[in-house]
Amino acid sequence: MVLIANHLSMGLSPESFALPKNHLFFINFVFQFKFMRKIEHIGIAVANLEASNLLFEKLLGYPPYKEEEVSSEGVKTSFFKNGPNKIELLEATNPDSPIAKFLEKKGEGIHHIAFDVENIVTEIDRLKKEGFVVLNELPKKGADNKLVAFLHPKGTNGVLIELCQEIT
Ligand code: ZN
Repeated sequence: MVLIANHLSMGLSPESFALPKNHLFFINFVFQFKFMRKIEHIGIAVANLEASNLLFEKLLGYPPYKEEEVSSEGVKTSFFKNGPNKIELLEATNPDSPIAKFLEKKGEGIHHIAFDVENIVTEIDRLKKEGFVVLNELPKKGADNKLVAFLHPKGTNGVLIELCQEIT
């Protein structure tokens, strides 16, 4: 581990160093500078944001720290912090919203899992190479000061995956 740390601090790429086959995973595990770093939030589709805010406030013991409308996506959202993670509630603001379609098809429930990434562009590139279908190859501005991109749920066991990178 120390050897690799020294190696990286010298500005040499991991590829130039003899590492085991899964070295990228190892380096990610040690340095947390690549790939999906943590679950950033879990998105839940709700029919009525106001009512669900009260419900989750009762459940968690504290209110959401923000509410935000993303008009380009046709959603109104609220966010609850929970340790290092968050819960995002999403209500549709028009019938064409992806959330309206989700509610129609599946009813209320978990809509997506969002992973925090350091660099969304390189992550999209990596995942495309791995064969995942990226729904928007150009990251877009999402809620809570994030650049976001989504992976098609057909390629991820039916779960819509969001990548998000904090806008700094
Ligand atoms: Zn989200």
